[in-house]
Amino acid sequence: MTKDSTLGRTGGASPRFGLHVSVAGGLDRIFARGESLACGTVQIFSHSSRSWDFSPPDPERLSVYFQARSAASFSDVFIHASYLINMASDDPEIAGRSIAALEKELATADLLGANGLVLHPGSARGGDRSGAVHRAASRIREILDRLPEGKTPLLLENTAGAGSMLGATPEEMASLYSAIGRPLRTGLCLDSCHLFASGFDLSNPDACREIVARFCQGIPGAQPALWHINDALFPRGSGRDRHAGLGEGHIGLDALGHLVSSAAAAGLPMILETPKGEGDEADRLNMRRLYGLAGLPVPERIA
Ligand SMILES: [Zn+2]
Ligand SMILES: [Zn+2]
Repeated sequence: MTKDSTLGRTGGASPRFGLHVSVAGGLDRIFARGESLACGTVQIFSHSSRSWDFSPPDPERLSVYFQARSAASFSDVFIHASYLINMASDDPEIAGRSIAALEKELATADLLGANGLVLHPGSARGGDRSGAVHRAASRIREILDRLPEGKTPLLLENTAGAGSMLGATPEEMASLYSAIGRPLRTGLCLDSCHLFASGFDLSNPDACREIVARFCQGIPGAQPALWHINDALFPRGSGRDRHAGLGEGHIGLDALGHLVSSAAAAGLPMILETPKGEGDEADRLNMRRLYGLAGLPVPERIA
């Protein structure tokens, strides 16, 4: 379904560029919010990311959401799972809460017809890493087995490499995927800030291709399902997960451009998780830069 009438000024549907947007006021509001910022996709938290307690949307809220979605110029929605979840925890209480929360997140993602649920693989909290990988993978596998009707893939995101966070290297991601063993229900989300913070040099296009290829080994389709495009507030190898606006951090526009142009050529969705200020000026600026990095004209509504 194309709805080019609302996008006449751009001459076609928006590319799959988007932002993490707020669900304030209702899930149905995310489409208008995304359209006003020239998005062709958005990412949301389905509930407060700092709360364990939430219920999947009721039928009434779902119907309003789907009405807004079918009237919108785009329909791709990604959900980022709560940061509280630690699937690798060796604390039985945190593990139990994490399992229940991830199950609800996946059920919610299915109800919303989301394109993917993004999850940080977890933290070993100073303990043995291979034990933590095994705990996270077997819990995730059990949840996926309990949701046989589920459709939304779980996208594991590479991390910034701080301390005990799992998933900063291609090898550790590969061991997670193979231990989960559900290639049709799992995929990869790569974050440019996390790649850089964990030490990868993004300044050379060939090196970028090689890094992405290493992360994609053994992944269905051999491509990331989603990119998070963020600059990094701290220097390469800092291990610190602090995002900056595009061109306002240590990665810089040239290096981000290598990732963006190859992701754009492959038609992959890209989400900005860049800092927001008052109003939407920072979002508009970062979206303009994303269009620019992909070599595409900037839509008038964000010009
Ligand atoms: Zn991210
Ligand atoms: Zn991050």
